[in-house]
Amino acid sequence: MSVPMVTFPDKIRRFQHFIDGAWTAGHSANAKIRKSPAHDRDATEILQGTAADVDLAVKAARTAFDDNRWSGLPSATRGKLLRRVADLIRRDLEDLALLETLEAGKPISQSRGEIAGAADIWDYAGGMAQALRGDSHNNLGDGLLGIVLREPIGVVGVITPWNYPFFILAERLPFILASGCTAIIKPSEMTSATTLRIAELATEAGIPAGVVNVVSGVGSVVGQAIVDHPLIDMLSFTGSTNIGRSTMIAAAQHIKKVSLELGGKNPQVVFADADLDAAADGLVYGMLANAGQTCVSGSRFIVHRDVAQDLQTRLLAKMAKVRMGDTLDPTVHMGPIINKAQHSKINGYLDAARAEGATLHMAGAGAATGLYVNPALFTNTRPDMQINREEVFGPVASMLTFDTTEQAIALANDTEYGLSAGIWSADLNSTLRAVRGIRAGRVWVNTFMAGGPEMPIGGFRQSGSGRESGIYGVEEYTEIKSVHIDMGARTPWIA
Ligand code: NDP
Repeated sequence: MSVPMVTFPDKIRRFQHFIDGAWTAGHSANAKIRKSPAHDRDATEILQGTAADVDLAVKAARTAFDDNRWSGLPSATRGKLLRRVADLIRRDLEDLALLETLEAGKPISQSRGEIAGAADIWDYAGGMAQALRGDSHNNLGDGLLGIVLREPIGVVGVITPWNYPFFILAERLPFILASGCTAIIKPSEMTSATTLRIAELATEAGIPAGVVNVVSGVGSVVGQAIVDHPLIDMLSFTGSTNIGRSTMIAAAQHIKKVSLELGGKNPQVVFADADLDAAADGLVYGMLANAGQTCVSGSRFIVHRDVAQDLQTRLLAKMAKVRMGDTLDPTVHMGPIINKAQHSKINGYLDAARAEGATLHMAGAGAATGLYVNPALFTNTRPDMQINREEVFGPVASMLTFDTTEQAIALANDTEYGLSAGIWSADLNSTLRAVRGIRAGRVWVNTFMAGGPEMPIGGFRQSGSGRESGIYGVEEYTEIKSVHIDMGARTPWIA
């Protein structure tokens, strides 16, 4: 049975900001059209916010936090409301998936999977609202009892990128809400629609006005105003390492806590005893999912010399079967690159790697036209080549070879980043030595990009700081208060 194509909507969708529980026109009527990168047709119209819009939204979030309308609710009630959001996401799955596909250029089946996955995270975070707890110390002596309280940190400014707009937000926002915080969110200017819609759904679910606010617009205006706003207590930033760094520097002005998930140059290590067919499939998936525009993308293949040729043959065979094409076709694996600038940047990396002497193998069914890039694998590379050092953020990987486990670990760690890693082996010793040796926030063994909301995410080194998701992700948005209670007659300081 053939799977039906989704049709391109007749009408462009127009969005305003969502502030204090309502669609809001804001201080400027300036709006930008987002074209679908796969179709070059108008998809959405997004209002361009100003610093004054941010101020309005921050004040709404501040009031909603300070009057306890959210954090003061029993955790059972907050959990129920988060689960109701999950249900509304499922109700609107097709609409959200279509918006995500039109703005981000994702194949529709991938968007559906991400929206469904995001709903599951909201469900899980609902339970986390109730799981969050403090601690007690009953061992301070007969006269003293210690209680450790976890309190929501306050108003959180959330800045998100364009590669997984709805899913990345789901890895943060419901945990922020589970902890009792309120939020102001700025999505990427290219992919704002589903973030604006989640604020609407949160309100429909019954989350009080002012708890979730979204201001759309460009990073240098709206993002910067969030980063600089004195009434925000914490920043959660996901995106490039450069803007992450400037966010951290700006946050220092007000000593704001910062959680950052940034870039990666993630290794996939394949030992000689690995199941090579499974490894080839996992490597191709880790390299090409979302056209390689994934922070945890596995883009450095570190392969035992004895199996490098065999693995290369299998990789190229898999890459040749990747279906590129219309993102509204549910059978398509890979869509276009997000915009012209990223497309040129990727082609620049391809040219530079060839100029440095690496061998390029290109594959993929369907000619690369418009913003599409065919899957590309570089062999004959050296660790010092640009292709092995910088995040390409495209469907591109490079291969290096090793002889010993120590060499494999050293190559894997030969990067300023530390976001994720894959290890493919049937041998417990080499697997565990690599698991321990590789410095990365997420390590997958004989799989790639697997997991669930129970597991923490985040990076070592220049890939970021802080952890999202799981109980760790709820705790990230809390302050710890230690309370000391004297239980007996006071021993006088001055007799
Ligand atoms: P950015 O870091 O520029 O964008 C991420 C978010 O930050 C967006 O919402 C952006 O807004 C916002 N932003 C931009 N400037 C500021 C600022 N001065 N203050 C506050 N917020 C700001 O990433 P890009 O989209 O430019 O992508 C560039 C590269 O970053 C990619 O090639 C890739 O290497 C990496 N990247 C990594 C991601 C990850 O998940 N780790 C995700 C995306 C990119 P706006 O969109 O309006 O500019």
